[in-house]
Amino acid sequence: MKFTDLDQSLGKHIDTMTDLTIQLKNMGAKIADAHAIGILLQCIEEPAMLRCVAAIRASVKNETTWKDVTKKLLVEYNALRGQIEIHKEIATAASAIYPKKRCDICRRTNHSTPNSFQNPDNPNNKLGQNRSTSTNDVSKIPKF
Ligand SMILES: [Zn+2]
Repeated sequence: MKFTDLDQSLGKHIDTMTDLTIQLKNMGAKIADAHAIGILLQCIEEPAMLRCVAAIRASVKNETTWKDVTKKLLVEYNALRGQIEIHKEIATAASAIYPKKRCDICRRTNHSTPNSFQNPDNPNNKLGQNRSTSTNDVSKIPKF
């Protein structure tokens, strides 16, 4: 049982690990809470959770319970999930406000069709232009 991805439900993972521990105890295995907590923390491989896991591991004392640890993990998990949701919402809102323009002529997304250098209707088009297009081009300097 590994927890490797924030898309997995940490709640479900913890439930499974809790059930496993209870089953083992019911079978007569002597598992100290600290040992069970160690196994639980060992199973979390999601990179974003590792800092929290390390902090918990460093703070585990004899009186630390399974419930204490799972609560901390879930708080961290929910915070991380919340950040992901916020990022998604911002991205969605941004793409609604600034829809990605795409040039109908050259299919690039960094300019719109009227501004395309390949558009014959654009006064600045570069069609049939063989001269240098560098900014040093004297003909581009406005005359006063
Ligand atoms: Zn274009």
